[in-house]
Amino acid sequence: MKGVIIAVGREILTGKTLDTNSHWLAGELTALGISIRRICAVDDILEEIAGEISYTLSLGVDLMITTGGMGPTRDDMTLEAWASALGRELVLNREALGMVQEKYRTLYQRGYVDTPDITPEREKMAHLPQEARPLPNPVGAAPGMLLEDGGRVFIALPGVPGEMKAIFHEDVVPLLSRLLEKRGEGGVLLQEVVKSGFGDESLLWPLVKRVMDEMEGVYLKTLATRFGPDVDLEVRVEAWGRDEGEARDRLDRAVGRLKKVLEEARHAGD
Ligand code: ATP
Repeated sequence: MKGVIIAVGREILTGKTLDTNSHWLAGELTALGISIRRICAVDDILEEIAGEISYTLSLGVDLMITTGGMGPTRDDMTLEAWASALGRELVLNREALGMVQEKYRTLYQRGYVDTPDITPEREKMAHLPQEARPLPNPVGAAPGMLLEDGGRVFIALPGVPGEMKAIFHEDVVPLLSRLLEKRGEGGVLLQEVVKSGFGDESLLWPLVKRVMDEMEGVYLKTLATRFGPDVDLEVRVEAWGRDEGEARDRLDRAVGRLKKVLEEARHAGD
């Protein structure tokens, strides 16, 4: 499954916010077995967000996730942009409205807000593109959005990291795991970092590549740092498997083989 992440928010483009959401999502999605093809950030401008979504649609990816721009204010326009790019109407979703109402009732009872009433700003968060489903937000007020469209999955998550992560864990992971399973793409990614005993990446790389070429379902990457007599470069070994057992077996074999190749090369240089 191929995926794209779009981070929405001017504060990312102005350098005020570091886009840790995309970084986090990329790690989580990769671990699920999804191949992230592209990450980008866009301004809080309707045409910019919709344009990026439309462009991503043209790439033919299976999964597109936006993060940010889901709140009650006028500059939160992600859902409107989704609707526009998908050619769907933005409609009041009863289930989402129920979630927003419930959230403000609780916040009011706790004394966190002055009124439980659904103001137009609060109601705005319950407007989703037609046929989209709301994803409950256990932390904040704005529900996430899920839209399945002809085998493709479109997801909108809030920008506040705690909210995004909570929705992702509770609803997105189970959904994607089911979909991956159905497509026969379910899998596990395991990794281990190995110290190489080499300080020069240009000497290390051919050895690492040799191991990678010999093995199926493994990816090896040298982790470059700096030059110096004290440098001991690390190699990250990643192994995929249809289940934990297969991934573990591939990882152990790749790590074992890498250590042997490195040791032989070090001795050859003695
Ligand atoms: P809210 O319900 O608070 O309006 P939202 O979905 O509209 O949520 P934003 O307004 O886009 O989210 O962002 C709220 C805050 O979350 C930002 O001020 C920033 O601190 C954080 N945030 C937003 N996007 C990111 C991101 N990509 N990476 C890390 N933090 C982010």
